[in-house]
Amino acid sequence: MMKRSWWMPLRIQFKFNPMKTKVLKLAVGILMCLGFSLEKLHAFTRQSTDTSMMVLKNVNVLDFKQGKFIKKKNVAVSNGLILSTNYPARKLKGLKVLDLSGKYLVPGLIDAHVHVSALTKNNINTTYSHLNYYLKHGVTTVRDASGDGAALLEAQKSIKSGRQKGANVFFAAVMAGDWYYNRGIGLHKNEPYQPWRQLITDQTDLDSAMTVAKSCGATGVKLYHSFDKVLLTKVVSAAKKHGLKTWGHLMMYPATPIEVVASGVEVPSHVFMLENLVSDAAFLLRKTKASYKEDLIAKFDITDFCNIMKSKNAILDATLCVSEDRDPWIFTILKKIHEQGVEIAAGTDQIVDLNRPNPRLLDELSSFVDKCGFINIDAIKSATLINAKIIGEEKRLGSIENGKVADLLVLNGNPLSDIRELGNIKLVMQSGKIAYLF
Ligand SMILES: [Zn+2]
Repeated sequence: MMKRSWWMPLRIQFKFNPMKTKVLKLAVGILMCLGFSLEKLHAFTRQSTDTSMMVLKNVNVLDFKQGKFIKKKNVAVSNGLILSTNYPARKLKGLKVLDLSGKYLVPGLIDAHVHVSALTKNNINTTYSHLNYYLKHGVTTVRDASGDGAALLEAQKSIKSGRQKGANVFFAAVMAGDWYYNRGIGLHKNEPYQPWRQLITDQTDLDSAMTVAKSCGATGVKLYHSFDKVLLTKVVSAAKKHGLKTWGHLMMYPATPIEVVASGVEVPSHVFMLENLVSDAAFLLRKTKASYKEDLIAKFDITDFCNIMKSKNAILDATLCVSEDRDPWIFTILKKIHEQGVEIAAGTDQIVDLNRPNPRLLDELSSFVDKCGFINIDAIKSATLINAKIIGEEKRLGSIENGKVADLLVLNGNPLSDIRELGNIKLVMQSGKIAYLF
């Protein structure tokens, strides 16, 4: 007996119907008589016979509104978009159909915080291998929080056009103040300023700074360091005026976390920077790192911080995995922030180790669930719909709804039962095309 393997139920059907062909020929003849040009006719037939249309049959579909998987749906994708999440079974004849019975469909993951060009020595091929790694592991989009803007733009275009395979890229232009760029410890001293890396001071013409940032393809600014609250507020409103998203560190030296959020930064990064929320907390935490005590957390009154985050509709880019070894208190703090109803984005701030079986994003989500009290669907939402929102793409990406881009993952197991099932991938679809089938 033939061994049964996973692809057995996969059926791709092409049906030829001679009656329909006759009718089509007749219609073409009539249209020609009516003066339709051949060019118009080609356009018409292209539209009416979309060869990219495909139906994911009998799959369990994650629905954020209902908070669960809707069982055994047919999801039709066409021209890169989700045409229907409830495609009628009677209309499947003649279409490309993938039978995915028993599988789970979730939106493609988005990593809210990567650096695919900055630490790869501007080697575009290295950037591509990282972006391809992401895609292969279900991350269909990334937000690059700062790097070589020229390389990122090239990568973005190559992936969009299909010349290269990888996660889609959205990226930031970095802006920082005088002390940061001129502190003399060599990190950025004497580096030429670029459209994607600008010095901002009280004297800067902010309108031209934003125009320059946009010229490199950035869709957001990453506000990094050396801003007081007055300058920061001006920079944020200039960015918004130019349609740029405002992302930045939670601590801007001297602007504090509450001042950063009050200034209008939409996505502040790094939970560990909340050590600056309480004046002596940072010192205490460092001093007692070896003998970390839970009661120290009582020092953190996060109420004001959470209230201002919510009133500004700001989203916290947590990045637990950058400091989890150093700062074990961050899990408790993030749990409290999540309980207060602040929206949390899932990002890693890590260069991928290409030998890892799964990207760090899955570890970040596991920490959300295991250590920060998230239910699984909230963790998944962080890495999909909320991350789509931080890049301003929530109308196109982040959930499985009619009309959205068909960036989808098919999983072998239920991630609402075990979040690690996000790493158990059967298929990755990007813009309606199968990128990986395992
Ligand atoms: Zn970063």
